[in-house]
Amino acid sequence: MIAQDTRIEIEKASNSRLAQSDIDNCAFGRVFSDHMMVMNYKDGKWSNASIKPFQNLSLSPAAMVFHYGQAIFEGMKAYRLENGEVGLFRAMDNIKRMNISAKRMSMPEIPEDLFLEGLKALINLDRNWIPSNADSSLYIRPVMFATDEFVGVRASQGYKFVIFTSPANAYYNSPVKVKIETFYSRSCNGGTGFAKAAGNYAASLYPANLAREDGYDQLIWTDAETHTHVEEAGTMNVMFVIDGKLLTPPSSGTILDSITRKSVVTLAKQMGFPVEERVITITEIMEAIHSGKLEEAFGAGTAATIAPICLIGYQGKNYDLKDSKTWKFAPALLKELNMIRTGKKEDVNNWVTRL
Ligand SMILES: *Cc1c(COP(=O)(O)O)cnc(C)c1O
Repeated sequence: MIAQDTRIEIEKASNSRLAQSDIDNCAFGRVFSDHMMVMNYKDGKWSNASIKPFQNLSLSPAAMVFHYGQAIFEGMKAYRLENGEVGLFRAMDNIKRMNISAKRMSMPEIPEDLFLEGLKALINLDRNWIPSNADSSLYIRPVMFATDEFVGVRASQGYKFVIFTSPANAYYNSPVKVKIETFYSRSCNGGTGFAKAAGNYAASLYPANLAREDGYDQLIWTDAETHTHVEEAGTMNVMFVIDGKLLTPPSSGTILDSITRKSVVTLAKQMGFPVEERVITITEIMEAIHSGKLEEAFGAGTAATIAPICLIGYQGKNYDLKDSKTWKFAPALLKELNMIRTGKKEDVNNWVTRL
């Protein structure tokens, strides 16, 4: 049991900003809904859980998060269902993963029940912030960070946990150009690659910018030791269709265990597509490109769901992939996933929590 000493207090915003916010047209991640959940960890327990109007936080410049980077986050979505209900997609998986990240970063775990209760209460309160267009959603961002005012190096003893939300419109995923990275690494054996830690993102920005200068949108990360097999695509997991089989690297200590990838793998199996979760070498990808057997390649993650890849760069050469309009697996899997998330298809895997 993780100690908690709290019930969730609710302070409603006196004026909703919804009417002034153009949620059906807003860009991703810039508009925030009326409320947020906040709680603090102090003296070995979580307390002061509350839902209150979305607002700035006040922190000391000595707050340890700014110096030693103990910060983790999650990303998940709530969807409008057909009957006016709201569905949280696989929220328990995100909650469990946040606690896996917390442990790796020497941060306190969050009681699952308290997390879920706060999440549900928050989404319920701001349910009208889900845009009305098909396949749009409310993006949910839980974040936890170190708050001790101390410049010595150790794990902080105080933390703040916040959940806020942002309307996310469905957008057309224009196919991306990716470069296979063989110098920089996102993560390494024994490192923090499996944790959704803020520092992993900070370290990935410079190599990603170098690739951008060369005309690519994203990197395909490879293993840090040999740079011979593929790990992730930018901030998404990566999947390939080679010779009629869906291939994806298994989750490991160096790969973030994507809930979208897990969902796609489950659906692919249920739809009868051949699936293999195994190590994928760059040699194998290159051979498949040359023999015409690389049929599809895409990233999988909550923000974009499925991001088709149109070009792969490797060792200074670019290889065009087949036009994603001709693909079979990715569009079918995306459609299936969207139908389940929005309640248009029976949720046989029990992924949706209805509010
Ligand atoms: C969040 C994240 C993903 C995608 O995970 P989902 O659960 O599908 O959103 C993939 N890779 C990295 C590095 C991530 O941080």
